[in-house]
Amino acid sequence: MKLLIVNAHPDDAEFTCASTCLQALQLGWKVDEILMTSDEYGTPRDEFKGRRIRRIRMQEMRDAAKEYGTDDDGNPLINLIWFGEIDGYLPFNAKVLQALERLIEDIDPDVIIAPDSFFSLDLHPDHLHTGWLAYIAVKRIDPDKRPELLLYHSYNTNFFIPINEIGIQVRAWSRHRSQTSPLKNKILLPLRKLFYFIRRRKTGPVIAEGFRRVHFTPGENNLVRPIHRMLYHFFARSFAGNSREYYTPTPEELGIR
Ligand SMILES: [Zn+2]
Repeated sequence: MKLLIVNAHPDDAEFTCASTCLQALQLGWKVDEILMTSDEYGTPRDEFKGRRIRRIRMQEMRDAAKEYGTDDDGNPLINLIWFGEIDGYLPFNAKVLQALERLIEDIDPDVIIAPDSFFSLDLHPDHLHTGWLAYIAVKRIDPDKRPELLLYHSYNTNFFIPINEIGIQVRAWSRHRSQTSPLKNKILLPLRKLFYFIRRRKTGPVIAEGFRRVHFTPGENNLVRPIHRMLYHFFARSFAGNSREYYTPTPEELGIR
């Protein structure tokens, strides 16, 4: 069996589906992870933005992936695929969609995990674009050959995978060293446990990673669309406006586009 995780940024998996990913590997599944961007703006320090932080983030992602398991040569079992778009600038267009569709066709996964961009708890434009791209790509596959699509960041969860090892999240996350600190890592584990404890509403005593399993039935996403679109435009605009400082210099000025 093959699992494909489609993420906007390195470290998204650590926050959303770490235990599921680990269990897939433990069951002997092949796991691929597509990173749509390489976190080119993953630092408040201008002198690090662009190529420098990208190099650091790619190495950190590799180190994090190793926490899930390595082969005999010490390489991570998770196959990381760098899609090559720029953090904060992931386009939502036909060209990117086609490239993603080709990748999915090559990998031919049984299950795909991606962000939920319809019932989304998270409105980062890169996450939303990743979710829509993955959703459309899977929807366009012949229903007989279509992989299961499980979406994270969803407030409309209907599919739960019990967590067998909650520590993997913090273990893998702590490898993203430029994004965290030893103290933060120490605080994170009890916080994660509390978070999952509170979220057990739908799963009873079991703590689990929650997803929305997509059925591709008509009207499945319609209810929230207008509200969501409003939220998106508001958020995307304020993200581009108020947070512009974070995303300056531009990719052109950094020489990465
Ligand atoms: Zn992200």
